[in-house]
Amino acid sequence: MVGIVIVSHSASLAEGVAELARQMTQGSVPLAVAGGIDDPLHPIGTDALKVLAAINEVYSDDGVVVLMDLGSAVLSAETALDFLPEARRRHVFLSKAPLVEGAMAAAVQASVGAPLDQVLAEAESSLRVKISELDGRESAPETTSAAPATDWSEHVTLLVKNRLGLHARPAARLVSTAGQYRAEVQIRKGDKTANAKSINQVAMLGVRQGDEIVVSASGPDAAAALAALRTLAGDNFGDVDGPDFAPPASEAAPTPGPAGAVRTDVLKGIAASPGVAFGPAALFRPRLPEIVTRSVDDPAQEWQRLQLAVAAAKKEIDALHKQAMSQVGEGEAAIFEAHLLFLEDPTTLEATRERILGRQINAEAAWQQETQALAGAYRAMDDEYMRARAADIEDVGRRVLRNLTGVEAPALDFTEPSILIAADLTPSDTARLDPDQVLAICTELGGATAHSAILARALGIPAVVGLGHDVWQITDGRRIAVDGDAGLLWTEPDEAMLAEFAGRREAGVRRRRQEKLAGIEAAVTLDGHPVEIAANIGGPGDAGLALEYGAEGVGLFRTEFLFMGRTAAPTEEEQVEAYRRVTKLMGGRPVIIRTLDVGGDKPLPYLELGEEANPFLGWRALRFCLQRPDIFMPQLRAILRASVDEAGSRLNTKIMFPMVSTPAELRQAKAMLQSARDELARSGIPYDDEMEVGIMIEVPSAVAVGDQLAREVEFFSIGTNDLTQYVMAADRGNAHVAGLASAFQPAVLRMIRDASAAAHDCGIWIGMCGELAGNPLATPVLLGIGLDELSMSAPSIPAVKERIRGLTMAEARRIADEALAADSAEAVLSMLKAR
Ligand code: PEP
Ligand code: MG
Repeated sequence: MVGIVIVSHSASLAEGVAELARQMTQGSVPLAVAGGIDDPLHPIGTDALKVLAAINEVYSDDGVVVLMDLGSAVLSAETALDFLPEARRRHVFLSKAPLVEGAMAAAVQASVGAPLDQVLAEAESSLRVKISELDGRESAPETTSAAPATDWSEHVTLLVKNRLGLHARPAARLVSTAGQYRAEVQIRKGDKTANAKSINQVAMLGVRQGDEIVVSASGPDAAAALAALRTLAGDNFGDVDGPDFAPPASEAAPTPGPAGAVRTDVLKGIAASPGVAFGPAALFRPRLPEIVTRSVDDPAQEWQRLQLAVAAAKKEIDALHKQAMSQVGEGEAAIFEAHLLFLEDPTTLEATRERILGRQINAEAAWQQETQALAGAYRAMDDEYMRARAADIEDVGRRVLRNLTGVEAPALDFTEPSILIAADLTPSDTARLDPDQVLAICTELGGATAHSAILARALGIPAVVGLGHDVWQITDGRRIAVDGDAGLLWTEPDEAMLAEFAGRREAGVRRRRQEKLAGIEAAVTLDGHPVEIAANIGGPGDAGLALEYGAEGVGLFRTEFLFMGRTAAPTEEEQVEAYRRVTKLMGGRPVIIRTLDVGGDKPLPYLELGEEANPFLGWRALRFCLQRPDIFMPQLRAILRASVDEAGSRLNTKIMFPMVSTPAELRQAKAMLQSARDELARSGIPYDDEMEVGIMIEVPSAVAVGDQLAREVEFFSIGTNDLTQYVMAADRGNAHVAGLASAFQPAVLRMIRDASAAAHDCGIWIGMCGELAGNPLATPVLLGIGLDELSMSAPSIPAVKERIRGLTMAEARRIADEALAADSAEAVLSMLKAR
């Protein structure tokens, strides 16, 4: 990103300008100041060395723009340039712009990732807005002689040979290529012309196979731009023989239908939560408030708001693009490249700017009018494929509007029970779902142990994730069928299939009823070895279900769900109330309350976790809490207070720290817990002095030093979801590495064995609360390894208990030994399935 340096005779003026610029760009731009001189008696002046230091502070090869006030500021800045090594000097420019207006314009332009020349140009034209406002004209008269008419003398004629012409992806490649050059590039087809850097204008030329286009360029690197475009055309605009978009992987091979017939109306994803469903599709596209056109006093500020909203939308799309690339592949992800180009389209942005400044209206209205007009133009095209692009424009348009209006949490309510189709669901979206209204969940992205998938299982909602961009072919209200056991979505289910699904659904309901009854009994092996079976919950609302399914306690209370879907952290009192409600509902059974585990795939906007390149490896869970006593201490006090009832009698509450990596972290957490105890004691507030303290084993380092950690706590609980992703270096939410991210990998099983040995050698108990604990296939292995407790989503309890009741410990140990000796997850699974 381009850096900005502000040079002024006055330190406070420089700081003030910088502060304003930081505020406008939410601190996203590298900014440094060189204000005043270090002479307390005569502080007004400029100092070349200060300017040099400021340049170096924000320097990157993207470039630096230096804005100065007057007189010696210019001289000092020029002297600073002389001190720079040549390799750097080439990237640093002194701007002719006025200090304040120029700094604001440059900072905003830099914050949207614009290249150096654009940042400079925007800064230098920054006075125009003010002049136009004061003059009542839209643009100021040119102060220099009128720009010469563009010289389009350099041109090439290209034949478009690819089957579908300049459709979305070839057009996007052309626009991206043209965008790499400073020259202006124009395309002409017949009597229509388009700016080659505008995806919309290029698409609307309607260039088909066999058409000739004339590409003209003007500017310093015109010849190079034309040569690159000629090469691109020679390469069929990047298309491989014909099809514009390769069929997505999910459609490439016909899929057998439930009755064995080969079907092509099926999308294949990842089975994330069992069960079948059929019903109308409900597309989850965030709703926006109605946009009203308003006159504004400060159109320049509206234009800046729009630029920031566009920049934020670009960031989101960039993240989606990266995720889609890794989860569903390049072909499917290409749509996001096109979305980015729509947002970078200079003609759309310029037209919106004109609407804002010319009509003096709010940014939301101008943007909506512009994108609606554009979508309308696409809809009016002859070509069916191009007409469908209108939906993309609307999608991108809505994203920007969402950023402008600050609408974040969209409504998730339906008029009738429906199958929810979404790009992805955050855990808080999933937690808000009403299982009576949502028949199934189908997402474009996501993996089976992402938190949204875990929650779907806990809610008993069938789910298929990672279906790819094709889910958006489904229209709202269309009747579809979903098989959460096989990971399939049927876009045109026929009567026979619906009848079969209805039968399976009925059978599922009956089975669950019977299972619940069977789940009530204890889980004891044939040779009399009891295993404690507990439930994972996200709040008091889940405790009833846990008991219904036969949970003997709560092995994992994910407290982060209390913190989600709100704008500030719950107070200590609110937390005490929620924790006590759970312990009371569980009627004296043990309840393990896990301290806040945010970060990773559970972001919380109001906690300002910041952006991280690798959130799963970053500032999450205990690492975050240790540095945020303002959040952690109230939670520790609340958990302690909830360890006794209102009358001060002990409840069966335990506390557990997530993501412990080192003994030092654990000691620090325990020290904070001790201060929470001391604070309560000083205030005469009762708590259970003997409340057990445990940790999650979910980082490989915790297994490696398990003996040291075991000496410090009363219990361990293994979190296989994270442990697996960290042991296998495979993201738990990434469909592409789902095979590696399997807890059945022998490497993961050996980690479980080692953690269990460390706990038992030290005389403490060990359980498991990761998803593996709820998989009955894994039950013999986990028993054989010697786990004392298994905690899972409530609906998994009956099947796991059933499995335990059919085993002896000797048999479980034999199966565990065999699994630990296997050399692949597939071998482990096929051995377990054969039992
Ligand atoms: C785990 O990592 O296995 C676990 C139970 O924690 P979470 O899924 O909440 O990260
Ligand atoms: Mg975890």
